[in-house]
Amino acid sequence: MRYIENDTEYEVSELICLKCFNRWIGVYPSELPLKDIECKCGKVGYVIKTGQTLPDVDVKKFEQDPRYQNMIKMWGRKVAIEKYKSFILGQ
Ligand SMILES: [Zn+2]
Repeated sequence: MRYIENDTEYEVSELICLKCFNRWIGVYPSELPLKDIECKCGKVGYVIKTGQTLPDVDVKKFEQDPRYQNMIKMWGRKVAIEKYKSFILGQ
């Protein structure tokens, strides 16, 4: 999944760290090479995409839903969408 914000294209993918096997839903600029993404274990260069298909998220609907306004205020749009997607995936 991709989305555009402030002229930057972001990629939303399930990522896995080959060092510690942590999985998470990453939101990162499409231009950023995966080898430059840092895992929470502190290692850089071990992150790959799992290829997991993510359910479609209607971002517009999410943003307009009053229940999620606090999330967007608290974390900002990008992080809120990431957390929303993680929630949908049950992580
Ligand atoms: Zn790791």
